[in-house]
Amino acid sequence: MTDDHVCHVCGVARDCGLGFDKPLRWLCVDCSMLIDDIRKIKRMDAYEHRALDKVDDIAGDFAAEHGTDMAAMDDLTRRMLWKTVVQGYGNALRGAIRSNDAPF
Ligand SMILES: [Zn+2]
Repeated sequence: MTDDHVCHVCGVARDCGLGFDKPLRWLCVDCSMLIDDIRKIKRMDAYEHRALDKVDDIAGDFAAEHGTDMAAMDDLTRRMLWKTVVQGYGNALRGAIRSNDAPF
C-alpha cells in the first residue's frame, strides 16, 4: 500500500476507495460515502478539531477503564487503545461532516 491510498479526510490507509478532484485525492470507502459533503468543505481543520474533542472523550473513557499508564498495559490493551483512538477519530470526523453542522 502506498501513500496514494491514505484517505484525504481521515488519514487511514486502506486498499480500496475512491479518487476525486484534481489534483487527485483519495478517500477510503467510509469517507467516500460523504463525497458530496466533503467537496463543499473549505476548512477541514475545523472539523478535525471537533473530531479531536470527541477522541479526547473516547480516550478518557478508555483510560477510565484501563488506566493511563501505557507501560503497564499489555500489548493487546495498548493496541486496543490505538484502535479505539484511530477508529474514534475517523468516526467522529465523518459524524461532524455528516451532521452538516459547520463548527465555525
Ligand atoms: Zn477516510
